[in-house]
Amino acid sequence: MLMWVRKRIEVSPLDLANGLGYCVMPGDRQTTMQQIAEWWQSDHALVCLSVRSGFDLLLHSSGWPRGSEIIMSALTIPDMPRIVHENGMVPVGVDIDLQTMTPDVEEIRRRINPRTRAIVVAHLLGGLCDIGPILELARQHDLLVIEDCAQAFVGCGYQGDPSADVSMFSFGPIKTNTALGGAVMHVRQPVLLEQMRRGHDQWRYQTRLTFGRRIMKYGFVKAISTGPVCGGIYRFLKLFGRNHDGVASSMARGFAGPRFFDKIRRQPSMPLLRLLHYKLGNFDSSSTDHRSELGQRFAESAGEGVYVLGLEMQRQTFWVLAILVEEPRSLVRKLWDSGFDASNSCSLHAIFDDEDAVAARILQHIVFLPLHSGMPESEVLRMAELVRNASTQIPLFAEAGQAAQSDLPAARGTPQVVAKPHYEEASLAEPVTR
Ligand SMILES: *Cc1c(COP(=O)(O)O)cnc(C)c1O
Repeated sequence: MLMWVRKRIEVSPLDLANGLGYCVMPGDRQTTMQQIAEWWQSDHALVCLSVRSGFDLLLHSSGWPRGSEIIMSALTIPDMPRIVHENGMVPVGVDIDLQTMTPDVEEIRRRINPRTRAIVVAHLLGGLCDIGPILELARQHDLLVIEDCAQAFVGCGYQGDPSADVSMFSFGPIKTNTALGGAVMHVRQPVLLEQMRRGHDQWRYQTRLTFGRRIMKYGFVKAISTGPVCGGIYRFLKLFGRNHDGVASSMARGFAGPRFFDKIRRQPSMPLLRLLHYKLGNFDSSSTDHRSELGQRFAESAGEGVYVLGLEMQRQTFWVLAILVEEPRSLVRKLWDSGFDASNSCSLHAIFDDEDAVAARILQHIVFLPLHSGMPESEVLRMAELVRNASTQIPLFAEAGQAAQSDLPAARGTPQVVAKPHYEEASLAEPVTR
């Protein structure tokens, strides 16, 4: 039995071999840093061990007093608010819009007070939020705007919205074009960048040995996550009444276990920098474009009755394909039995406890589906059919969808997502007025 894995680790055997080579012959740090910055055409890039490292460094370097408030998209990975807490600050979650996954500007306006220092917008699922209105609001209140582009890498040197103060890109194991770690922070505030550089220099280096081990680990994970092997593991664990889902997600975790802050507060090792440079130089955006097309085909074929998340985002690349259904668990089981490694266990986290919040309802009803450029279209369509037959539109979300459709320029069936990305357009898009 074949099983389409949910998340493919985007490294080739050649990438892994090169990575091991760099562990043996590391090369020069300054040169490699420069090459990475040149690839981005950025004179304000700081390369960190991970986005979490860079975000921690940013807050630490900010000079903001204890008790400062950081407004954040309500849905993000749990480590992000955790890092805010660790720095003595308070994460303030702002609910997101169901169609665009963008934090609501009016709610942000209400949450701003004299203690507020920054707004962190997470571009989720591989699409982009329109941050124009948020930027405008932030300017009025002298707040920093930080874009979390961890899920939104598309190559072509796209370095985030040029008006954002900070844009953060991740190359962690499950991210697009991974280098098995690493992050690029574009910091457009010279003083802050200088502070961050200084703080970063105080950190110890990730050792070559640590990174070498990481390469071996993910080489192994990659090997067992091929279709036939994954199918075999699924059947094997099922015999023992267990499922593969927990096993898989614990292996995908970047800095598992205790001493989290000790692990993230490191500078990247030399081989990591070189692998990152190599991966950037060899990135082929056609695979992201193809994934984006497959996601569109899925959405069209699944039809109106299936709510595909993030369809109205800008430049949607479907880094993950997620739908909302009434009964996530039963659909997931059914998909497993048909060879699709779906999941309803979520690595995302809602920053507040309000049950009625969109963020919380998404988490209750979300199902992640496998999608990557290596899947044949016929399989994507088979998956769409399974989903179509199994799901019923959730009344709450159906209403939200229809209400929003009437004031959106395009209806759900014909999303305004461009399959071929236009970066200038995406970053200079006019603010939507609501
Ligand atoms: C993966 C991810 C991060 C963390 O990136 P690392 O480089 O692994 O620290 C942060 N935010 C979001 C939304 C992510 O998906």
